[in-house]
Amino acid sequence: MTDPVSDRRTFAIISHPDAGKTTLTEKLLLSGGAIHLAGEVKARGANRRARSDWMKIEQQRGISVTSSVMTFERKGLTFNLLDTPGHEDFSEDTYRTLTAVDSAVMVIDAARGIEAQTRKLFEVCRLRDVPIITFVNKVDREGRDPFATLDEIADTLALDVVPMNWPVGLGGQHEGLWDFREQSLTRPDGSLHRLAGLDDPALEGLLSAERLEALREETELAAIGYPEFDVAEYRAGSQTPVFFGSALREYGVEALIEALASFAPPPRPQPATPRAVAPEEPNVAGFVFKVQANMNPQHRDRIAFMRICSGTFRRGMKLKQVQTGKAIAINSPIFFFAQDREIADTAFPGDIIGIPNHGVLRVGDTLTEGEAITFTGIPNFAPEILRRVRLLDPTKTKQLRTALNDMAEEGVTQLFKPMIGSQWIVGVVGQLQLEVLISRLQAEYNVAAEFEPAPYETARWISADDPATLKAFMEGKKAAMAEDRDGSPVYLARDAWELNYTAERTPAVRFTATRERS
Ligand code: GDP
Repeated sequence: MTDPVSDRRTFAIISHPDAGKTTLTEKLLLSGGAIHLAGEVKARGANRRARSDWMKIEQQRGISVTSSVMTFERKGLTFNLLDTPGHEDFSEDTYRTLTAVDSAVMVIDAARGIEAQTRKLFEVCRLRDVPIITFVNKVDREGRDPFATLDEIADTLALDVVPMNWPVGLGGQHEGLWDFREQSLTRPDGSLHRLAGLDDPALEGLLSAERLEALREETELAAIGYPEFDVAEYRAGSQTPVFFGSALREYGVEALIEALASFAPPPRPQPATPRAVAPEEPNVAGFVFKVQANMNPQHRDRIAFMRICSGTFRRGMKLKQVQTGKAIAINSPIFFFAQDREIADTAFPGDIIGIPNHGVLRVGDTLTEGEAITFTGIPNFAPEILRRVRLLDPTKTKQLRTALNDMAEEGVTQLFKPMIGSQWIVGVVGQLQLEVLISRLQAEYNVAAEFEPAPYETARWISADDPATLKAFMEGKKAAMAEDRDGSPVYLARDAWELNYTAERTPAVRFTATRERS
């Protein structure tokens, strides 16, 4: 009997735009037989929401705005790949997606090394000790010297690097990949040659004399310069195995997927209060890390993406939404595959199920068979841009409010209701989110609107040990006070200077840039 928990690998790919994440995703899905033709990852997204303007933004910018889940099976293992948006404007969504994985693959462009977005996403992984396998992509192009790439990873990310294979030259001089453990050479034509070692005379017939000599020298230096691979160190997040390859030429991808199968951790215990939750526990528990509205524009439904953390989920189960105490019957849970989706009858720890609902489930929610535990570490972030929304057709006030509530539920935007006045304020983490918001208001709710500046630049959630202190602060700052969607008090400041000034003068009040739903 196989064990469904140890047979699962739930992971994400993190990278800077253009490093090759989409191409690699396709090849991984192909290798699992989940799709049959490369190029279908983007095509499917295009069909799914072709009519919305939101999709147009995705197409124009060539970026993927939503995260989705793709499940594939390979050699008896179930892989759940969570897609993370590659654009920096969507870091909040990406952050939450990374709370739902057990490991990550970091894709780096061989010519560009560590880029801004890779670094940010890496920091998020580190916060949660998510182990990382590195894939240095595009070895078929001119790139940096492998030592320079490895040292850059080690230095900028403070991580031990262990090359698992070695590129025999790059770009025009590229003649293959040498696998250290297998003692094998894969040539650019895909042929695999097992050898007795780097002194095997057969190598002379496979590589040019110049490249063979360089390979012998470089691998000798690498053996001295880098530590041995240690699976415990990798799983603790302090060491990353590095694979060189080319996603486009589907080359080195096999070694990567084998590494995921052999080394990447199965579902891990998840942090929660009052105690962590282990996957082996019999009772079902999970959390919602993403909500997406209007996946089908004809039905105003919302899909909540839940990661199962423990127990065996069965369709029709009643789970308690811990935050509200409500029992919810999950009758049509969905599994997502590369090309289609289907009803999930049974799901195990590490799996992601989509739960259609009408706005009941929210990001950060915990669902359990009854126990009052709450998964932690799925925060909201203080917005960096605040705007008022101006309706172009003033009769659409109600539709606008519905739409903004929906978008806030999805986490596309945050919504603040000032204590004085009736004009709601929307907050986003990045500029692109504003564009997405305007497009979607038009496409999905038929509301024409534009943004106008709000008199505030920054927002902080506030709290205090003594409720009277908090109340007094709020009374004194009425004009700058608002509530978020959950009714939590938020202080809106004109600028960073004002925020600092106020915070310094009222030490009994805490000003926080993140908030978790409780
Ligand atoms: P993403 O933005 O990270 O999803 O990157 P894509 O997968 O869309 O790739 C960006 C560009 O790099 C595309 O033009 C790909 O064809 C190209 N690309 C991806 N992998 C490779 C590779 O291994 N070699 C070469 N030469 N190009 C690649």
